[in-house]
Amino acid sequence: MKGSAFELREDLLDPSSGKHYEGAFTQGNSYLQLRGSFEEGLACAPQNEKYWRLPANVTLEKQRSPRSKCGTYVPGIMGSHPLLNEEVVNLPNPLIFRVSCSLEALDMDLCEIKDYSRVLNLRNGVLARRFIWKTNSGAALECSYERFASRARKNLIVQKMTYKCVEGKAELRFLNDIDENVTTNGYSHFASNQKTPCGNGALLTVETDKKEKVWLETRAFGERLRFREGTANISLAPGEEITVIKISGIMTSRDTDALLGPEQLSHLIEEAGSDYAALKSENDLAWEKLWENSGVEIDGDEEAQLALNFSVYHLLRGACENDDRVAICAKGFAGEAYFGHFFWDTEVYLLPFFLYTNPRVAKNLVSFRVNTLKGAMENARRYGCRGARYPWESSVSGTEQCPNWQYADHEIHITADVVYGLWHYYEATGDFDFLAKAAPVFVETARYWFDRVEFRSDGEVHLNGVMGPDEYTCLSSDNAYTNAMVRHSLEKTLELLSLLKERKPDSIKDLNIDEAFRSKALEIIQKIPVPVTSDGVIIQCREFAQMEEPRFDLTWPDRSKCFGTQVPQEKLYRVKALKQADALMLPFLFPQNYSAEEVKKNLAYYLPYTTHDSSLSYIIHAILLARCQKAEEGFELMRKALKIDLSDYHGGASEGIHIANCGGIWQAVVLGFAGFTPGEEKPVFHPNLPRNWTALRFHIVYRGQKYQVEITPASVKVTPRGKN
Ligand code: BGC
Repeated sequence: MKGSAFELREDLLDPSSGKHYEGAFTQGNSYLQLRGSFEEGLACAPQNEKYWRLPANVTLEKQRSPRSKCGTYVPGIMGSHPLLNEEVVNLPNPLIFRVSCSLEALDMDLCEIKDYSRVLNLRNGVLARRFIWKTNSGAALECSYERFASRARKNLIVQKMTYKCVEGKAELRFLNDIDENVTTNGYSHFASNQKTPCGNGALLTVETDKKEKVWLETRAFGERLRFREGTANISLAPGEEITVIKISGIMTSRDTDALLGPEQLSHLIEEAGSDYAALKSENDLAWEKLWENSGVEIDGDEEAQLALNFSVYHLLRGACENDDRVAICAKGFAGEAYFGHFFWDTEVYLLPFFLYTNPRVAKNLVSFRVNTLKGAMENARRYGCRGARYPWESSVSGTEQCPNWQYADHEIHITADVVYGLWHYYEATGDFDFLAKAAPVFVETARYWFDRVEFRSDGEVHLNGVMGPDEYTCLSSDNAYTNAMVRHSLEKTLELLSLLKERKPDSIKDLNIDEAFRSKALEIIQKIPVPVTSDGVIIQCREFAQMEEPRFDLTWPDRSKCFGTQVPQEKLYRVKALKQADALMLPFLFPQNYSAEEVKKNLAYYLPYTTHDSSLSYIIHAILLARCQKAEEGFELMRKALKIDLSDYHGGASEGIHIANCGGIWQAVVLGFAGFTPGEEKPVFHPNLPRNWTALRFHIVYRGQKYQVEITPASVKVTPRGKN
């Protein structure tokens, strides 16, 4: 693969796109995540701004746009916000390294900066920044920075800074620090913090408002440098340079390591040493192993290749490899929007990538739902139902965290999506032991549906008052997607119960299943409607036909902005304008149930009504078009999805990565254009490549076996590569 397809570059120092690059350049090692902010900070962007971020429709909300927002996240460290509920805490920033030359502080906005560039190497997660700083004192410095969150040592962050004097004489002063003055969405989650500057850095202990302890430590090393309280001075003559290595660590009381605490953290930092090249090479090796199974090569399309690499990179850094108490939040731990919450994005958009490249991580994602069953049961009780009701927005406990009633109360398809994800995991891996452990989720969610659907006296069964995936239809009756997912989830529950009867009869007893359970499930399966018009168009919901035509020609004058920003919410809710795929999610998730002709009819009906205001939309349509031999049309839509985080149009990655779209992009290539279908035993491919793709190469893990796949317009080669 060409090197440039692994390089995300920023060549122009433009304050207006600064926050976008901070999101796009987010680094992480699956344990900790860091936004791409500058080491020295920016005078105009204090990080402890206080304000009330109110619950609002996040897609349409006008974000505050400070010039920069740093981000340090350890998934699972949540704080309690009085209006937004639990949110992931933006921790103190350990990247801080301030430098001044003859009292002029380096600031990328205020200083004279030339030849600026930043490059994120997607292959190994190293972010490099280079520029010339023409100081007020007449000295010019060639500055280069590199940093990474070590993939080999999960608690550690490694930074290297080199300053070379290329003109005049430079009197430099360094400060190695941790910035504890950080708020999250304008709110401080630190109940206490204790900072101790020490020789070459600082130690910091914070306690969050949820009583989690977070320890941070930073140390700096450099030949000829004598740090006192984190500060060191040096003079550079022309041609001289100085390199500083900064090693920082984070540990939290949520970690599962046997020994926790500041001494243990110091020990890890000492153990690492300060040999940058050695630390980098172990990091590179760990990343190389990850890419081995996950990389996809596209010949003939550099734009798609870069976007795909970018997506895979963020999926690899964002997923928690060794923690099944968290999932991947909607912004990929790369920003504060959506508050670090977990959505259906996990099962529908993210899971497939991990299932077919790294089932171990996929197992964590599905286990997260098993581990949060208790919260889901509490949630059901709060809504007056038995069983388990998964939250539209989950935090670590499984209780509802969504601060907006519309979604929290009505977007209940998530409960069935969770079961879809569990079954998908089982089908792709054949891991029956896991499925047996997950049985209570099937049974308890079924019990919730028994209470939530309406059994009418005339014998009909309906599910009303729901919001489907299309969040612009606020309240609907018999949403086809939700109903079909409920049916699927009950079918799988009954299937699982008979499998358990055969293979683990003892485990059934604890589930308290009686005949009434089976007959209720069967009744819903048989009666819950998923209506289709006589022309074969799935009916999104009973109200849809009666809704007003959206008249986009009049109501959506500025197509560069979301439709939702141009009409009042009440109008959004009553016109036939879709935020994202809704009924079309069904042929996407159940391709075996729909012929190409049916898919085309449904696309023809719904696409003209779809605004794609959600970033989860384009990619589903692209996949469906690819699957029904309309690869070029599909690719046109995919092109838009490729740009979502790569251009700063609509804010780009400012508030975080649209990680569901990243998972969707991988799915579009592998499940869409390569036409991957999980076959009986082996994976099967029915490709339909866009015109300019001359070859596709990737690996697939299916039922414990690894396969190497090579697809060209004329051939499909699937080579078994042994056990995964
Ligand atoms: C979409 C949801 C999605 C959420 C988080 C919303 O804008 O409509 O489908 O789950 O974003 O990504």
